[in-house]
Amino acid sequence: NTSPARVPSVSIKVDSPNVAYSESNITTDYYYDKTVVSVDQEGSYTAVPKKVHYQFSTDTKIGKVGLMLVGWGGNNGSTITGSVLANKHGITWNTRRGVKAPNYFGSVMLASTVKLGVDENDKAIFVPFNNLIPMVHPNDVVFGGWDISSLALGDAMTRAEVFPYDLQRQLFDMMQEYKPLPSIYYPDFIAANQGERADNVLAGSKQENLDQIRADIRNFKAQNNLDKVIVLWTANTERYSDIIPGVNDTADNLLKAISESHSEVSPSTVFAVASILEGSPFINGSPQNTLVPGVIDLSVKHSCFIGGDDFKTGQTKIKSVLAEFLVNAGIKPLAITSYNHLGNNDGYNLSAPAQFRSKEISKSSVVDDMVNANHILYKKGEHPDHTIVIKYVPSVGDSKRALDEYVSEIFMGGLNTISVYNTCEDSLLASPLILDLFIVAELMTRVKFRSTNDSDAKIEEQSWAPFQSVLSILSYMLKAPVVPEGAPVINALSQQRAAMENIMRAFIGLPPNNDMLLEHSAP
Ligand code: NAD
Repeated sequence: NTSPARVPSVSIKVDSPNVAYSESNITTDYYYDKTVVSVDQEGSYTAVPKKVHYQFSTDTKIGKVGLMLVGWGGNNGSTITGSVLANKHGITWNTRRGVKAPNYFGSVMLASTVKLGVDENDKAIFVPFNNLIPMVHPNDVVFGGWDISSLALGDAMTRAEVFPYDLQRQLFDMMQEYKPLPSIYYPDFIAANQGERADNVLAGSKQENLDQIRADIRNFKAQNNLDKVIVLWTANTERYSDIIPGVNDTADNLLKAISESHSEVSPSTVFAVASILEGSPFINGSPQNTLVPGVIDLSVKHSCFIGGDDFKTGQTKIKSVLAEFLVNAGIKPLAITSYNHLGNNDGYNLSAPAQFRSKEISKSSVVDDMVNANHILYKKGEHPDHTIVIKYVPSVGDSKRALDEYVSEIFMGGLNTISVYNTCEDSLLASPLILDLFIVAELMTRVKFRSTNDSDAKIEEQSWAPFQSVLSILSYMLKAPVVPEGAPVINALSQQRAAMENIMRAFIGLPPNNDMLLEHSAP
């Protein structure tokens, strides 16, 4: 693709005895450093450094990839589709501040760099993140999806009021070619006010709905000659589903509950099940508990990736930076108080109590890991006050406002108050995250690994396996990351980014990046 908006890629080859390249694979031997700590009866710690041998093998052939969005006609769905078209076709547009060109700002994979290493003069060399290892580029992706509203994407873009007029004007005809497929609408799960736009809905039982969505994925794949399809929920926030033993607690029970049209199975859960059964990774960008235990169980059984929950865009992203900074600086946040108001359809839907509650839950656990990690500042069970308010104010449209106050205890009982006022087009924050979730999930479908897993067994005797089906590597992009059972949830943003960077470095046989700068320490 020769799009002017596409950053030229650099070719990276790792010259190491631990790295082997073939026509279609990169295979690496990797030694993972782990420190194992034991505590004796007196409470003394003994720390033992260990190395665990891993091999990673990455298929470097990406193939043709499709992205199907649930809620395609919404603000995020139409914005991401229009943005990719503008990038792909190099569309520029006039504004009162001059001519603007498309880009992928806000995407970690497409617009940030990582330090590859240092040159012979110990000067750092940075490369685009998505050049570390072959990754799918959005300009090459086929878009599709579903919406309960029948508007074609051109009209949906106009309704969203996100793009400036001159860009909308140029995109309109191309966008209007895209028509969302009819979707699943169980009115009980989203706000009653959404009934106004639900004119594109599937009839029939939950089993028939599941079968239809599976057929839609298969048809989309066949019609576009795709090697793989990834499905992402960017539709309305639903209410939480009750977790009921015998209904949604195991894969078998969930499939049975769908066949019986059980009332507690949500549309998003039907989409997750359909995707898994079709072998398509599924990502949940909204806060509700789509990934009920039965879905997680099904994804493990089918070795199909799932990820969630809720895009981490504005307020929560800043929270996962500020709380990390404060707690790691030895400062004790006492109260975090957050107000939002927004005027888009997401805000309209969130004005209903059950849907607001889903958002409140997903926003509330974001400082837990940082607080739990510091037993000097916080006694066991102690937690800062944390309050979240969301209001619907139609006139601000997609331009969400977030007001936060952080009150912290500092040295010798002093108090510090930080106030943050954050204004941003909501969909312009979420859309690049949709791309990152999609790009990283696609990469993970091409990676397998094996390890000696702390045992003395030879690595050649172990079998290759994909990563665990719940993709915790996506945590950077998610407000309430779902992780494999028993794994810790990391919310701190810099740790989440370091994890993505260092895992991808492992795939090409490079050690984790650190900031020790020992090469500059000689006297
Ligand atoms: P939106 O309301 O503009 O779009 C949602 C779309 O989903 C609508 O077009 C609606 O018709 C459709 N829809 C509802 N139920 C559906 C179903 N069952 N099947 C198919 N389509 C369905 O909202 P948005 O601003 O695009 O946000 C989408 C979701 O992303 C919301 O749940 C929101 O909470 C979440 N989110 C957004 C951000 C952000 O910054 N924009 C951040 C985090 C999470």
